[in-house]
Amino acid sequence: MKNNIKKLLELQLLEDEISVLEKDSGIRDIKNQIDSLKRNYNKITEKMQEIFDQYKKTQIQLVKEKEAFSSIEKQIKECEDHLYEGSFKKMKTLNSLQHDLEVQKIKREECAKEISRLQNQIKIDKLNLKNLKDKSTEIKDDIQKLNKELLVKEDMTKDELAGINLKIQSAKKDIPKDALNEYYFKRQKIYPVIVECHDGICGGCNMQLSIIFNHTVTHGEESQGFVCENCGRMIYISSEPLCNKM
Ligand SMILES: [Zn+2]
Repeated sequence: MKNNIKKLLELQLLEDEISVLEKDSGIRDIKNQIDSLKRNYNKITEKMQEIFDQYKKTQIQLVKEKEAFSSIEKQIKECEDHLYEGSFKKMKTLNSLQHDLEVQKIKREECAKEISRLQNQIKIDKLNLKNLKDKSTEIKDDIQKLNKELLVKEDMTKDELAGINLKIQSAKKDIPKDALNEYYFKRQKIYPVIVECHDGICGGCNMQLSIIFNHTVTHGEESQGFVCENCGRMIYISSEPLCNKM
């Protein structure tokens, strides 16, 4: 690592240049806005799927409930036909028919209420789906507008960016794959990855480095390969101070 730290630092500084360029040109801001809109869009899509699944279930329920309603109607009709035709033999049968009729009528009422509730639920789901669809279309339009804006800004900075990227490619060529992998692995969690050490204090986390560690860091040529025990950053030792923007 010790021979690579200077090259890795060069890489880090070049990557910083890209960050600064993106920030100053407004590209970073637009990218953040697009990311935030995309997150919103995904949330809405998920919600729409949820409502749509519920909507399908309600429709199946409604069909069943309507079938039940028809069946009850049929039974009521049969009961009434029997009663009016007088096709019953005994008093008991008349009472039983009248009782059945009452029961079926109560069932019909309950069924009608349930149908009305389901129809209402379908109406609400449809309305919610429409509102969410409108909202998602709006977000899509906004993303498209921002993407256009982004293209313009990227076009304005493309030469400068290409120049930096060229330097980055060339810097990477001189760094072994292992060292590069370690740098990018750390970079996902901490930034900057490479920092200076002043008076035994880590330039990244501001923690005092241990005495033995500090002694080695201050006195040895080997020091360039050290990693902060506290934050895991790579410690760079140099007679010249690092760039201030770090
Ligand atoms: Zn540290």
